[in-house]
Amino acid sequence: MLKLPVCPHCGAVYSYKEVSGMKSGTNICYHCEKKFRVDKIRGRAVLLSVVCITLIIINTAIMVSSENFVPAVIMIANIIAVSAAFLMFPLTVKFIPEKFTKAEKRERRK
Ligand SMILES: [Zn+2]
Repeated sequence: MLKLPVCPHCGAVYSYKEVSGMKSGTNICYHCEKKFRVDKIRGRAVLLSVVCITLIIINTAIMVSSENFVPAVIMIANIIAVSAAFLMFPLTVKFIPEKFTKAEKRERRK
């Protein structure tokens, strides 16, 4: 699941920077000029819920198992984990192929 998206039509590779700069919605491939939809929301939601659940489990486990845990250390670890999740956002972006309408196809042939 965690890899940079490629064009669903021609497999053109997009860099981390390009993907993070893309807006949700329809995009045109720089290579084959076909349309695809950029879906950022679903991957992010999945990633964030996985990170949250993991953190809750880890935090609870630490608090239950050790009586002299250091809250500051746990907090810093949590902040690092959440920032790592944010850095992984472009890796969760999905490109969904979109077809040209007939009118658009005619327009392009001119
Ligand atoms: Zn393409």
